Amino acid sequence: MRAFQVVSPAPIETRPLRQAEVPVPEPLPDEVLIRVHVCGMCRTDLHVTEGDLPQKKTPVTPGHQVIGMVERCGIQATLHQPGDRVGVAWLHRTCGQCEFCRSGRENLCINALFTGWTVDGGYADYIVAPQRFVYPIPSGFTAEQAAPLLCAGIIGYRCLRVSGLTAGGRLGLYGFGAAAHVAIQVARHWGAEVYVCTRDERHQKLAAELGAVWVGGTVADPPEKLDASIIFAPAGEIVPAALKALKAGGTLVLGGIHMSPIPSLDYDLLYHERVLRSVANNTREDGVEFLREAAEIPIGTSVQLFPVEQANEALNALKNDAIRGAGVLRVLES
Ligand SMILES: [Zn+2]
Ligand SMILES: [Zn+2]
Repeated sequence: MRAFQVVSPAPIETRPLRQAEVPVPEPLPDEVLIRVHVCGMCRTDLHVTEGDLPQKKTPVTPGHQVIGMVERCGIQATLHQPGDRVGVAWLHRTCGQCEFCRSGRENLCINALFTGWTVDGGYADYIVAPQRFVYPIPSGFTAEQAAPLLCAGIIGYRCLRVSGLTAGGRLGLYGFGAAAHVAIQVARHWGAEVYVCTRDERHQKLAAELGAVWVGGTVADPPEKLDASIIFAPAGEIVPAALKALKAGGTLVLGGIHMSPIPSLDYDLLYHERVLRSVANNTREDGVEFLREAAEIPIGTSVQLFPVEQANEALNALKNDAIRGAGVLRVLES
């Protein structure tokens, strides 16, 4: 089968993803083998490819927003049947034993494996995944619409849940890529007003179309103080501006896995019980609840499709904010 692999992480402009011919992976007893149809792109794929995240496996196939069809099940895997349409997300497997797994916080598992980083991901014709970490995909979504829900969507949902946002609250979103364009739809469904800060004009336009009450530049000052905000852009220099725009008692959530250094802060920006926190990974419960709510709302994703052979060019576009909504790689020609 084809796999698009990173051997040596390097700037995406140098085309570090290489096409290789590799054996189809064999599912373990509790795993399923999945024929990949599409794979969404996430900024984390760029961090893996360029080396912002340490390399855990060499070579590694990135991609953790996989939609495909179950091809074959391991001998103990009975939850899915061949032919079922399923999704694979970032959390590949947890240990079930550590203090975090035992306390309902498997997203923090100290032995967790991650799709497309510590194990091979979906920029390939086939992928294997443990049956308990594979999500049935609601039938209302096409494969390419569903792909961005699996990381951008789920992580954005977890960010919203921990932000403390309530109906009628005011939410700030910093950066308006794949995650934010889903999160705004959930927040509006919850009855919140959404304020969006982003530098790119196409992103500003999409935010307005999706119902933002106000749109401004990267560190522009929203006209109202905000109850909660989420930074999706990997830029630590946004943190002081975002804290400044927050009400007393408000929460600022950092949604990325990697961020440039955060500048030193005047304590006044944090005082009055403002909370600054990160979100790491997601639990399967986040995924199941989000997919159910996404189908109910229903979430519409704005998607730009690329053939998987153009993964380098597509990730380069992602790096330069040149994708409107979410980028998705088509692996299987329909
Ligand atoms: Zn991701
Ligand atoms: Zn664990």
